[in-house]
This record gives sequence, structure tokens and C-alpha cells, in this order.
Amino acid sequence: MRRVSLYDSMTRATRGFAPISPPRVGLYVCGLTPYAPAHVGHGRTFVIFDMVARALRRWGYRVFYVQNVTNLDDKLIARAAEADDDPLALAERHFLDFRRSMERLGVRSVNYYPFATDYVPEILDQVRALVDRGFAYVASDGSVYFEVAKFPRYGALSGQKVTALQPGARVEVDPRKRSPEDFVIWKAATPGEPSWESPWGPGRPGWHVEDTVMTGKLLGARYDLHGAGLDLIFPHHEAEIALSEAATGLAPMVNYWMHTGLVSMTGEKMSKSIGNVSSLEQAIDDFGPAVLRFYYLNAHYRSAVDFVPGKSLEECREAYARLALPATRIAELLERDGPDRAGDPVPAELADAAGELVEQLDSTLAEDFNSREAIAALFGWTRRLTELVPQLEHLDGAGLAQLDAPYAWARETLGLFEREGSTRTGAWARVVPLLLDARARARSRGDFAEADRIREELRALGIVVEDSSGSTRWRFADPS
Ligand SMILES: [Zn+2]
Repeated sequence: MRRVSLYDSMTRATRGFAPISPPRVGLYVCGLTPYAPAHVGHGRTFVIFDMVARALRRWGYRVFYVQNVTNLDDKLIARAAEADDDPLALAERHFLDFRRSMERLGVRSVNYYPFATDYVPEILDQVRALVDRGFAYVASDGSVYFEVAKFPRYGALSGQKVTALQPGARVEVDPRKRSPEDFVIWKAATPGEPSWESPWGPGRPGWHVEDTVMTGKLLGARYDLHGAGLDLIFPHHEAEIALSEAATGLAPMVNYWMHTGLVSMTGEKMSKSIGNVSSLEQAIDDFGPAVLRFYYLNAHYRSAVDFVPGKSLEECREAYARLALPATRIAELLERDGPDRAGDPVPAELADAAGELVEQLDSTLAEDFNSREAIAALFGWTRRLTELVPQLEHLDGAGLAQLDAPYAWARETLGLFEREGSTRTGAWARVVPLLLDARARARSRGDFAEADRIREELRALGIVVEDSSGSTRWRFADPS
């Protein structure tokens, strides 16, 4: 296993990474609340942690990567009510779209996407334990609140002092709470909402508690690495720490915290709740997944980035095309003639340089996942090879593979230089819609046998087609 260092938000220092039971690594990243389509800001966090998981795996760590899905919350209930829809079904549809975007982006490192509502019995156990241990109390309406004052370490991660949140200025007083900073872990249900029976009456889980229950169940009471966007540090991650450590008595809940920098849009916060967002799916359609990954990884993951629609990705498209030119040429030659193609051997000096560069790329990325510097080094390699592009076709297959080694490194860790259309996703994303069009035409002329045949053929190929309320969606079947 390669030595890795990373910036830990809790200690505010760069530390050597030491998993609890190497080579295993438990990685948890806060996932999506799928009440609306994913935006470009979400894509950044998920591509960055995809890179983290890919790199750790390359270096010999066995990463188990869990990303939760908050499939029920106030916003989902409100959105569903507007559309006279079921909140759980709405979440499911947005989640399927999100998974398709992730597939197209090459984000395939997540092992498991648990849904919050699948963990209600375990959530009830944790809420009960917190009440029994005196950390939580039951309010008059049957909701259960965590009492922040009972957990003195609250605020350690974010640096927010609880005293700054004490009653007084500009805090709305909720009569159900003992103190304004207390937060709900079990919400008494309003009639018509999805709800579950509990010792305190019908209700549903609060937000923070689902994370600690799922990590406890899937990764253990203490695990290695927690990641998310910086905007979740307070109160969400403070709340996670308090709930887990109070419920289990084991600390720290997690040994390393990694937070990605914020994405603004033309200078303003990008947020679904403000409506100031740029669709992830649209950006992939317009520029392709590689350009988007390049955009995300060409900045250090902790830096704030500003997204200017049109401009940001337009600039990246040109830069990425320059960067990828020799890789593209090499791939074309190898694809055409195969790895055993005849030709001249590559000059030893150049082959050595490629090998040294791969080692340099690994050590650069192993220092706090500095993908920006790694990409800068790849640009250096591209400059060197660009002069050689006309001579590439005289080289033998082994020589081309040697020159390709730095790009192959980037394919594995950064997910760049995948040949569009040659990947599972790329080809399917083009072909499946054509078949679904043919199926829709068959149905519209009443030829349901033909429509069913197309669906069954796709199923045999591992593609699931789903019809719901007038629209048709597709996804890859879950691996069995
Ligand atoms: Zn979370």
C-alpha cells in the first residue's frame, strides 16, 4: 500500500492516512436528496470521491464505498404534494436519473447506495438508545429531539461555538425544543405523509440520524473516512458525530474528514433551494463526460470554484482536447492494428521518462489527492508527445503502450481519456435511446409484440426498461 496523506477537516492538518484494519478502508460520502435533478455542483463532489476511491484501490487499499440516498424529507414531501405524486416514487425516479448521469460520468466506484427508508427499524433503535441514555427527549407532539447541551464536543469539527447559538438574537423559538440548537431525530408525521409506527406515535426519520445508522450498520461504529461537500459540515456533520458517539459511546466515529470546496455559479452560491443551478445531465449532453471530469479534477478538491455556464466548460473542452491529442492518436493506432502491431521500438529515454512520470503521478496524487498538479504533469507529457504525433504511427505496439502509460494511469485514477463510445456507458448511452424510439413507434402503431420483444432483448443485454406515467426510462440491471 502506498503512503497517502490527506487534509483532515477535524484536526485542520494534513495527516498520514492509516486505516483501522488495512488494507480495508470504510468510505462514506453523503449522497443526494433526490427531490430534483442533480446539478453541476453535485457532480464535483461525486467525481472527486470517485477519484479518491479509484486511487486508493490502485494503491492496494480495499475500499468499501457507501453513499446514502435521503429518499424522504420535507422537500421531497413538498415537491411530491405539488405534483400530486408519491414522495418515495419521486425520489426513486430522480435517483435513477442520477445513477445514469453517474454512469455516463464514469463514477462506478460506489459499492452501495443505501436508501434511508430501508433502515427505519435500525433508526428507531438508535433513537430509543439516545432517549434511554439521556441524550434525547420526546416533545409534546411525539417528535424526538437530540439535546445538544448534553454533548460537550458539539462544534469541534466546524469550529462553531454552541454558545453562539444560544437563545437570544434572531432565533425562531420552537416551543417543542428545550434549546434552539437541538435537532429533530424522529419527526411526528403529519397526516398523509409516509410514516412508521414508533413508541412515540407515527413518524419518520430526521435527516442526520439516517447517516449514523447506515454507517454504523455498514461500516461499524468507528470507520476510516467520511467525505462530502463543505456546506454539510454544519450542522449535518456535527450532528452525525454527536448522534453516533452518544449512541455507541465509541469515539471518534470516523478518523478522517474530507470536504470538497464549494461550487458557485457566476459568483453566487449554487443551490437547488435557491434555484440557481445548472443541470448535470445537460452539461454531460453538451460537453461529454470527459470534459466535465477534466473541469472538476483540474482544480484542487478543496478550492472553491466558480462555474460560468457555457464559458467554463467551453474553455475546458479546448484544453482537454489538447491534453488528450496524443492519447487519442495512440488509442486509434492500437485499436486499428492491435497491441502486436509491427514498427520501431520507442527510444529508451522516452520509455524511461514515461515510467518515471507514472511514479511521479502516483506520488503527486498521494499527497492530498492533488489532481490539479497531476493534470499539470500530464500536460507536460502531452507537450513532449505532441511533437512526435506524426512519428507515432511508425512505432510498434509495445512502444505505443509505453508512451500511453501516463494516460493509462489517468484512465485508472482520474477517469480521463476513456474512449468515448468504446466504454460500456458511452456506447449504450447512444444506442439505447435509438432502440427505445423504435419501441415507442411500435407501441404507437399498436404493435405491442414488437415493443415487448425490444424490451426483452435489452433485458437480455443487462438493460432494464421502465415505463411510468407516460415516460420511459432505462438503467443497467444491478449486478447479481
Ligand atoms: Zn449525510
